[in-house]
Amino acid sequence: MNRALVYATAAFALAFSIAPSANAADAGADAGEFAYDPPGQLVDGSGKGRADDKVFVPDMRFPIESGPAFANSQVWGVGGNSGPAGSQCEERNFSYPWHDNYCETRSWDMPLCPSGTGHQGQDVRASSCEKGVHPVVAVADGTITNVGSYSVYLTTADGTRFDYLHMSNLTIKVGDTVKRGQRIGMVSNQFGGEVTTVHLHFNIRQNVEGVGQVYVPPYTSLIKAYKTLMGWDEPETKDAGTVDADLPKTEPSPVTPVTPKDEPPPPPTASEEESGCVLAPRTTTTGVPFAAVALGLSALAITRRKRKRF
Ligand SMILES: [Zn+2]
Repeated sequence: MNRALVYATAAFALAFSIAPSANAADAGADAGEFAYDPPGQLVDGSGKGRADDKVFVPDMRFPIESGPAFANSQVWGVGGNSGPAGSQCEERNFSYPWHDNYCETRSWDMPLCPSGTGHQGQDVRASSCEKGVHPVVAVADGTITNVGSYSVYLTTADGTRFDYLHMSNLTIKVGDTVKRGQRIGMVSNQFGGEVTTVHLHFNIRQNVEGVGQVYVPPYTSLIKAYKTLMGWDEPETKDAGTVDADLPKTEPSPVTPVTPKDEPPPPPTASEEESGCVLAPRTTTTGVPFAAVALGLSALAITRRKRKRF
């Protein structure tokens, strides 16, 4: 089965495995086919991303126990401080494509971001806006090294640290050893006595040669882990599973080819910005007989009618 068919089948299965409801809690059921914007492509106006396709933790488990889940910004999404007006629980926040927000504008020191500052990690929404019902799990075997007022750190034997923010219903304490996939809390909105939106903020901290212990981009690792969680893995290649993520990428992106490492993405051209819209047919002024133009336009009209049936 080709990938598009797999995604379509999975989306179909999802759509019918959850009881239909007008409630925003089921918004994920209508999320459609999985797609994601390339690493480093941030929401317009939210900063400059790091276009890096390296998967920093290739064998990571997805941090939310079950899908669907939606990686996108809490600040620049619907209902966010800088986003379109509306409710944080709106369906648009619970739909694909995913959006990277690792380098989103913040004051945190982020040596790997083009501006030198950023958001540290990735915001991820669970399948619904409800808090305290979506289990969060250990992404790897390790030890709980910190439990703060709204953050939990999980550190693995190789020194990688995973930070989980905003959870409730914690089932771990500092010093506990945890197994990959073990529940540690629930997706919530905890924010040190205050509240934020219902989501999981997820960081990965690693030692990067020549830079030091820093927050590394989690987006690509989340994509890979999510595909595994949802059963959408690519066929294995002989290099799959090796730890050196500097190897050439073996999985083509389902959306857009990734910009080469360390090169910021080019600014969108007018045609890219308009690609989501139906463009008006080109006007023909000279050199083409009227009949040909009329024929072309009617053929276009037929094509559009056909598309509308989907
Ligand atoms: Zn965040």
